[in-house]
Amino acid sequence: MTPIPAMHRVLADARVAPYDLLLGRNVVKRAAEEVFGRARISGDRSYDDILDELAQHLCELRRRSLLTVINGTGIILHTNLGRAPMARNALLELVGVAHGYSNLEYDLETGERGSRYVRSSTVISEVTGAQDALVVNNCAAALLLVLDTFAKGREVIVARTQLVEIGGGFRLPDVLERSGATLVEVGTTNRVNIEDYERALSPRTALLLRTHPSNYRIEGFTHDAAPRDLAELGCRAGVPVVEDLGSGALVDLAEYGVAHERTVQEALGDGIGLVTFSGDKLLGGPQAGIIAGSARLVAPLLNNPLLRALRVGKTTLAALGATLELYRSGSVAERLPVYRMLAASIDDLRVRASVYAESLPGAAIVESVAYLGGGALAQERVASVAVAIAEEHPNRLAARLRAATPPIVARIEQGRILLDLRTIFPEYDAAVISGCRSSLT
Ligand SMILES: *Cc1c(COP(=O)(O)O)cnc(C)c1O
Repeated sequence: MTPIPAMHRVLADARVAPYDLLLGRNVVKRAAEEVFGRARISGDRSYDDILDELAQHLCELRRRSLLTVINGTGIILHTNLGRAPMARNALLELVGVAHGYSNLEYDLETGERGSRYVRSSTVISEVTGAQDALVVNNCAAALLLVLDTFAKGREVIVARTQLVEIGGGFRLPDVLERSGATLVEVGTTNRVNIEDYERALSPRTALLLRTHPSNYRIEGFTHDAAPRDLAELGCRAGVPVVEDLGSGALVDLAEYGVAHERTVQEALGDGIGLVTFSGDKLLGGPQAGIIAGSARLVAPLLNNPLLRALRVGKTTLAALGATLELYRSGSVAERLPVYRMLAASIDDLRVRASVYAESLPGAAIVESVAYLGGGALAQERVASVAVAIAEEHPNRLAARLRAATPPIVARIEQGRILLDLRTIFPEYDAAVISGCRSSLT
């Protein structure tokens, strides 16, 4: 019969030791007692064998938590995989602020209570040219706060070309209804012009809302009212104009070889009163929703009691501030992962792919198409390079890759497993190759 070994010996074993920190000593101890207890009942098994089982069990426990995964899909802003990876300086700020105390709502000059929003609004204004700004939990929350503040019990005019569902159950008409606003639709599915908006104006009109059609496109006989005309109409009628930009580009994406995406600066330059956008899409920061625009329109948002329920925490503010610093210092291309991935040359990707191909039996280097993803520009294609693994049962191999440590999420295309190198960080290459090797055998 296998004796129960000394717990300190079990905990010190290299297969078990890492879980001490990841799961906590008590969880590891309980698991060890359980596995060794079962082994005693079932009879003769070697200590080594039981320890393997324990390690396997701990690994399964660990996999129930939020984990780092390798993104081999080629989709740069993958909502299911956590959207934008953050920059190193953002992580450092986040850790520093999370580790201890901070001046989150404390004014160091006066020694009195301060505002948690003041620092982020300053840097957002500097980067975007907005007069003022506010950060909330995500872009959906930003839109909700704007609608709740300005449009409750009143009318919001939206073009039928823009009445979208973004995904995850976020349908614009439903969000409007929830916020107590009445939707007034103008134009047709494919066309809207400024006169349509003008005719729909009434004393009950609270907002003119423009939204990014995000993840779908209308092509052919189409027309949208120019944002500048919309801003002018709002100005004449004394009605605020709001634009939900979603992905919130702050730099010209054409410089990265993909289609130009309307930037926050352009929308504000067109005279839009308030814009809303996400922190973790093209901005490349943490999950957040940013509302930027005229000071006159931001002020009432700060007084809405709903803000308390939508507010962001210190780690978000720290990471967002540090991310925006990269825009201010003009170092986005080198230091922000989303843009570093976009900027990687095909040659560089090929060099990395050849290392994969040499180490993995049956692997080939193939041309691939990566996608920007993340709502707006979801279908925007980026030339890329992938490692293809031919396999009789690609679904099974994909499942084995997902079971690797760290899990590898691949793409299946024409019966092959593809690992797109554009979304795999070069520093993970060795781990991905080793994960693939063990999954292949
Ligand atoms: C992504 C998106 C949203 C939702 O943003 P979250 O930050 O996920 O809440 C809203 N509007 C548009 C146009 C979007 O693209």
